[in-house]
Amino acid sequence: MTSLHGAILDVDGTVVRGDERLPGALEGIRSLRAAGLDVLYCSNNPTRPVDHHVARLRDHGVAVDPWQVLTADVVTVEYLATEHPGSDLFVVGEPHLCGRLRDAGFALTEDPEAADVLVASIDREFDYDRLTQAFWALEAGATFVGTDPDLTIPTGERLVPGSGAIIDAIAGVASREPERVLGKPAPETAAAALERLGVDPEHCLVVGDRLDTDVALGERTGMTTALVLTGVATRADVERADVRPDYVLDSLAEVGEILD
Ligand SMILES: [Mg+2]
Repeated sequence: MTSLHGAILDVDGTVVRGDERLPGALEGIRSLRAAGLDVLYCSNNPTRPVDHHVARLRDHGVAVDPWQVLTADVVTVEYLATEHPGSDLFVVGEPHLCGRLRDAGFALTEDPEAADVLVASIDREFDYDRLTQAFWALEAGATFVGTDPDLTIPTGERLVPGSGAIIDAIAGVASREPERVLGKPAPETAAAALERLGVDPEHCLVVGDRLDTDVALGERTGMTTALVLTGVATRADVERADVRPDYVLDSLAEVGEILD
């Protein structure tokens, strides 16, 4: 009988990779459900609506309701609504993120000098001019907020740059670190995930393929942590890292071993 009542699962590199479901993913999710754990899917991908994630998981045979999906854009919007209500935002980010911020009542400006907050995120149209404008927004005194720290994203074949790469480019030119980066492993994300699951951290398992986001989120909060080797991190990374997962699993298929 396990003392775990909830599980936070990363999506990319843990359940799916590109268009493929990872081997053993369904088996692992079934063993979590069979042991009575509620599952929340927590992704640092800020570029897609929750419905997209729900449909994608369902296409892979994973039954999931919208409340079970928590993404970095949702946490970022909640953070800005709490900490910077009514602010004018300069956004380096994709259309979905901009739309969510507008829906939450924020004004988006294209004038770097007029921005109260610079929001930085993955933007696959990012270029030199956008970097210049973001730099000028920070020079003019805007607060610097990032959606998530992921430097890379696993796609089908290769890793590609994520939000962290763009945040770092802006931080580099401005010689200034962001005030806040949301997504995993931010405490706001841990709190939102635990609230949705209705569990305390000591009764929660977090499983993911990244040490610096998934495992760090759990370690900082006092959850049980498991790294899967189906995405970004390797066994060699575990040896080198400051963040130590409680378990290292070849894939999600082995998650049942933690529950015994
Ligand atoms: Mg991942």
